[in-house]
Amino acid sequence: MATKQVYFFGDGKAEGNAKMKELLGGKGANLAEMSRLGITVPAGFTITTEVCTYFMKTGGKYPEGLKQEVETALKKVEKIMEARFGDARNPLLFSVRSGARASMPGMMETVLNIGLNSTTIPGLITKAGNKRFVYDAYRRLIMMYSDVVMEKAVGIEPKEGMGIRAQLEHEMQKMKDAKGVKFDLELDADDLKKLVQIFKKKIKQVLKKDFPDDPGEQLWGAISAVFRSWNGKRAKAYRKIENIPDDWGTAVNVQAMVFGNLGQNSATGVAFTRDPATGENKFYGEFLVNAQGEDVVAGIRTPQAINEVSKTDASKHLPSLEELMPELYKQLAKIRTKLEKHYRDMQDIEFTIQDGKLFMLQTRVGKRNGMAAVRMAVEMCKEGLISKEEAILRVKPEQLDELLHPMLDPKDEAKAEKLAGGLPAGPGGAMGQIVFTADDAEAQAKQGKKVILVRNETSPEDVHGMKAAQAILTAMGGMTSHAALVARGWGKCCIVGCGALNINAAKKVLSVNGKRLREGDWISLNGTKGVVYKDKIGLLPADPGKNVYYKELMTWADKLRKLGIRTNADTPDDAKAARNFGAEGIGLCRTEHMFFGPDRITAMRQMILADDEAGRKKALKKLLPLQRKDFIGIFKVMDGLPVTIRTLDPPLHEFLPNDEVSQREMAKQMGVSVEAIQAKVQSLHEANPMLGHRGCRLGITYPEITAMQVQAIIEAACHVAKQGVKVHPEIMIPLVGTKQELENQRNVAVETAEKVMQKAGVRVKYLVGTMIEIPRAALTADQVAEVAEFFSFGTNDLTQMTFGYSRDDAVKFLPDYLSKKILPAEPFQTLDQEGVGQLVDMGIQRGRATRKDLKVGICGEHGGDPKSIDFCHRVGMNYVSCSPFRVPIARLAAAHAATR
Ligand code: ADP
Ligand code: MG
Ligand code: MG
Repeated sequence: MATKQVYFFGDGKAEGNAKMKELLGGKGANLAEMSRLGITVPAGFTITTEVCTYFMKTGGKYPEGLKQEVETALKKVEKIMEARFGDARNPLLFSVRSGARASMPGMMETVLNIGLNSTTIPGLITKAGNKRFVYDAYRRLIMMYSDVVMEKAVGIEPKEGMGIRAQLEHEMQKMKDAKGVKFDLELDADDLKKLVQIFKKKIKQVLKKDFPDDPGEQLWGAISAVFRSWNGKRAKAYRKIENIPDDWGTAVNVQAMVFGNLGQNSATGVAFTRDPATGENKFYGEFLVNAQGEDVVAGIRTPQAINEVSKTDASKHLPSLEELMPELYKQLAKIRTKLEKHYRDMQDIEFTIQDGKLFMLQTRVGKRNGMAAVRMAVEMCKEGLISKEEAILRVKPEQLDELLHPMLDPKDEAKAEKLAGGLPAGPGGAMGQIVFTADDAEAQAKQGKKVILVRNETSPEDVHGMKAAQAILTAMGGMTSHAALVARGWGKCCIVGCGALNINAAKKVLSVNGKRLREGDWISLNGTKGVVYKDKIGLLPADPGKNVYYKELMTWADKLRKLGIRTNADTPDDAKAARNFGAEGIGLCRTEHMFFGPDRITAMRQMILADDEAGRKKALKKLLPLQRKDFIGIFKVMDGLPVTIRTLDPPLHEFLPNDEVSQREMAKQMGVSVEAIQAKVQSLHEANPMLGHRGCRLGITYPEITAMQVQAIIEAACHVAKQGVKVHPEIMIPLVGTKQELENQRNVAVETAEKVMQKAGVRVKYLVGTMIEIPRAALTADQVAEVAEFFSFGTNDLTQMTFGYSRDDAVKFLPDYLSKKILPAEPFQTLDQEGVGQLVDMGIQRGRATRKDLKVGICGEHGGDPKSIDFCHRVGMNYVSCSPFRVPIARLAAAHAATR
């Protein structure tokens, strides 16, 4: 490895910059950038991600020349900081910090105060003039180091609550109890001095190793441990959830320590340049006086607000940073403006004040929920910070999901019993059954239960359970705690800092304001207000139309996008919901359910049981007015917009009961013998119904079914047209594989439609087209297009038949295919562009070679998937069609596709 492995930063200079995230990780790249911007950061250096990859590949070896480069950079830092690592009189301490390309909050390790030992402790005491501070720093080093380097990095997996860190915390608690005090700060220098001796003994006893006294050993131990933490259990779990590649590796930042725990003139905090929960343009943050960085995130003490607007119920009685240290607050506010202007996005920053001097320790693009993302994007565009295109790209289509998320029904909420209040860390409403551990959350969610994870605080070890839960509730922590950060990133309902909770996780009970609740009890959360309620509260769908920022962003998106957005809707209600979400038509109206209603199924069964055409026609006649009514309802809602209706698709046996009890019941109802019914069920039985007598094949053997459906459609159309409704029916024939099949069905349709219109004395414009869902139809699309007036790619069946995977049976092997990386993504969710996509692309080209202006859309599950929508845009479709709730997501995804 001949390339540079170590990049220095500090003193207004840096060898790296913000663009070098792949090599330096996000943290390292941004520390370099801040240093270049003239923002004060403690000097340090970054060891590249390439070293990490090398370290992983070689099972823990370092590339040649690394030690030398580290040595050189370290000398530079010593010069700037005017102190020396390991020096007896003027010691310099380091933090060793992880930092991957993409932020993985708290997933990997950081060790602070490296370099404290028997030699440097006396020196630092003299230098700082504060013995308590030094022993506090030392006990922190021991706690972090033994946990990260001596336990986790070696692969020890202690039982819950038995980790070395927990055991040391227990020792500390014992000391506080013995002394009769509550807070860490109440332990004095001598207590802490005694405590470190206890710690060391405990470490020797549990881990069978001495805590290292050599600063060099400490430094390299920490560096290796950080590299190893890339493959730690929770980092791996997080990467899987967030789709971060395993081979990226992390960088390591070695940085001079600054101390927020030097006394009342020192502090440490975390802030966001805008409110990450609402997106509002206000500086938002928390800090602790006389503390080290990790205290804020860990939620050990209730943090104070940096300014008036950041105050919460929990912090309103405490003075803000602005009140306590007005000069420093002003400096911080200036840095806020500078960073936002420079990065042109909301930043999440860490700072530390050492004895009246402000240092920045981190900046990164802040995580935000969907609501906040939308507001920030729109406001930043209006402020001239970003363009409209950028604003659109700032919001991930999936994030809109949160705006469409349910909230507690206010009527029920008003009557519900309030248990407690906390901080509103993740908006929206949720209800679920209490669980106390992440593993329980995951296990019970797998059984289909709705659970709410209730913890004192969450740690990165809990992410799998947090993901599985409906919502997260913690007793401790502030708006920048781990739980809040993670929930916000996922747009999950979350309440933190709910101090009234008294949790006994081991016994799986909690008490809150005099009430006892146990695992499995129902609670409901209002994450927008931060209120916890007893029992279930109904959820209401969201109403994004009331959000002015959302509305504005969507008008920008709609202008930009080239794809039309339709919806898959079978009922007037769904159609109405979709129209409210911005749907521009119906791309797929399935007619199956129209045969299932209690008033219809008997007629349908009579039709199936009939021995001849006359019998079938008689039964179909009963269904006709019912279907016509359905279509009238849908046409009225979709006034002015196209409605694609698919004729009957599933095999007939699906309409008949399979068990004997229902067969008897049916026989009685219909006045026929059970045997007759059983015989029919038998005769309709198919070895492989998916590839059997269904789709247009039904309409070809029983043309009267297609005729009845077309009659209902066109009669409904004529009926509403007379009332002034603008109606555009599109009749879609499913499962066509040859031009002749479509021709056959088209003839039935046209003949029927003509008759209906003549009789009604009105003409409506209608189209007859087909679904392209059988590979042969895609291959012969040029011929099919001679008959079809439009194509709609039914990519569910097309995927099924191209892969040869039955969708109903694929659950048995698809999970393995995904985990073994045989497939990159679930092909029924994200269109397989490489394979199935070829058929789609070819189908469009061949179809349009015959019919230049052939209208083409997609109506599979994929029509609501952003990646697939991007593909649909590229192959030149006219529209995508998806379920009503995905319509906004599809609109934005289509705009993204057009912007790229
Ligand atoms: P994470 O990625 O989990 O946030 P960090 O590397 O940012 O981990 O460090 C954890 C905490 O330690 C942060 O609060 C950070 O501000 C603090 N910290 C890291 N390096 C230093 C340093 N050189 N001086 C003072 N505090 C530090
Ligand atoms: Mg950090
Ligand atoms: Mg199909």
